[in-house]
Amino acid sequence: MNNTEPFLNYSRYLNNKYGCTAYRVSIDGGFSCPNRGEERENPGCTYCSSYGARSAYIGETENDIKNQIDRNLKILTSRYDAKVFMLYFQAYSSTWAPVDQLKAMYDYSLSLGNFKELIVSTRPDCLSEEVCELLASYKTDQFDVWVELGLQSSSDDTLERINRGHTRDQFESAFTMLRSFGLKIAVHLIFGLPGEDHRTMMETVRYTAALRPDGVKLHNLHIPDHTEMFDELAAGEMAIPSSAGHVRYIADAIERFHSETIIMRLTTDTPRNRHSVPGYMLDKTIIYNRVREELLRRGTKQGVFF
Ligand code: SF4
Repeated sequence: MNNTEPFLNYSRYLNNKYGCTAYRVSIDGGFSCPNRGEERENPGCTYCSSYGARSAYIGETENDIKNQIDRNLKILTSRYDAKVFMLYFQAYSSTWAPVDQLKAMYDYSLSLGNFKELIVSTRPDCLSEEVCELLASYKTDQFDVWVELGLQSSSDDTLERINRGHTRDQFESAFTMLRSFGLKIAVHLIFGLPGEDHRTMMETVRYTAALRPDGVKLHNLHIPDHTEMFDELAAGEMAIPSSAGHVRYIADAIERFHSETIIMRLTTDTPRNRHSVPGYMLDKTIIYNRVREELLRRGTKQGVFF
């Protein structure tokens, strides 16, 4: 953070680290998650779409890892003249497989490009000592390994209502285990979940902040159609925060996170063709500027209420 920037933004962190913009190469390793079943056949979390957070860069039908990586590298290079890349297993729960299969998948994928980091997105119930040990084996002084861990809410009532399939205690055990292996951890939270208000959301923020994650991804609630939550919304059983409300939640959250926790995301980044509710799409740059302006207007910054 510097004097003009009220929070530690991910792009700035990467720029400082690599001396230029670094890009994530997002892939779908073909995993599922315990909540969806082996063939991705169950509904899972009540907001889960059939894409399981798969990136638009991958395309909706491409499953071959090499093709995904080649395509992604090509797009990033031609569109942004990208030079620094991080391999990101984004879709579903990318540690939900036997360790030997995981190793084969990570080794092969890492061999397909010159990657500076390995980033793996997963759930608290898809981590074991063996998996953490494997992930830690890729770590060197020059090569970071990050695990992105979904929590979404620290309220067990909310976790049950959205059918997350894990509790806060399970999350905390997974977090502690990752820490003990020296892995970097980014926690995913969602603001605006059904039954939650400002108090419960800030309770989640306080709880997460106290664990001192290396990074956090803060999402606005996005509800794809054909999901249970979409039906809940249509039945008037819940509401979605406005974009102004989301800016307030984000600014309030940033004030509560430690100044060294990297704020990696402020909005959900769903491809437009998968977008259902809310009817507006929160533009990353606009939200970034609004949050920045809000903190400057308040005269506060990240960490003041940590
Ligand atoms: S953990 Fe992720 S992939 Fe699994 S059901 Fe929930 S949102 Fe879907």
